[in-house]
Amino acid sequence: MAKIKSVCVYCGSRAGVHQDYAQLAEDTGKILAEAGITLVYGGGQVGLMGLMARAAMKEGGSVVGIIPEHLDQAEIAQTGLSELHIVTDMHSRKRMMFDRSDAFIVLPGGMGTLDEFIEVLTWSQLDLHDKPIFLLNHKGYWEPLLALLRHVTAEGFANPSNLDLFITAPDLDYILEVMKEMDEPRTPAKADLF
Ligand code: AMP
Repeated sequence: MAKIKSVCVYCGSRAGVHQDYAQLAEDTGKILAEAGITLVYGGGQVGLMGLMARAAMKEGGSVVGIIPEHLDQAEIAQTGLSELHIVTDMHSRKRMMFDRSDAFIVLPGGMGTLDEFIEVLTWSQLDLHDKPIFLLNHKGYWEPLLALLRHVTAEGFANPSNLDLFITAPDLDYILEVMKEMDEPRTPAKADLF
């Protein structure tokens, strides 16, 4: 039985140009639901976000959506979620997504996904939390980002050990296997410093 009970997935509000991104998003929703893990995400019905949420719901999974009111037009809140939270701003959204989750998975996505990944990574770098972060490097999608992060450390702007603060995963099965062995993260001692 996994000790990780809820996972926040960051992913694109668009579906990308290749059909297999959509498949990956649907597989993610389905697999988390089958594993009895609550999916926490941005609450929209567009792009990979919506595909993933609907796949999880179809499988009977628990899905928590968190959307800022100003994005309800652009990302359109998904109906039928176990919980939908409409918050005032982006910071409240990201904070609530963080608080409600034991771990993070980063799927292919755009600027928003990059922002979300880098933010939880830097919070980890600052020792504000120790929740696991999985970068799902689907078909090498995140290789350019990994190269940039290696460059940043090689040039002396981050400790090379910071590259160990996230786990690069080739596929979902790998993530599920690693999660099974993980303990529940400790309650963030410094959550009030975010
Ligand atoms: P994207 O990867 O750009 O498609 O965005 C994925 C999700 O991240 C969407 O729900 C966006 O609303 C959200 N997002 C966009 N910009 C930001 C940002 N600066 N900070 C946090 N989330 C964002």
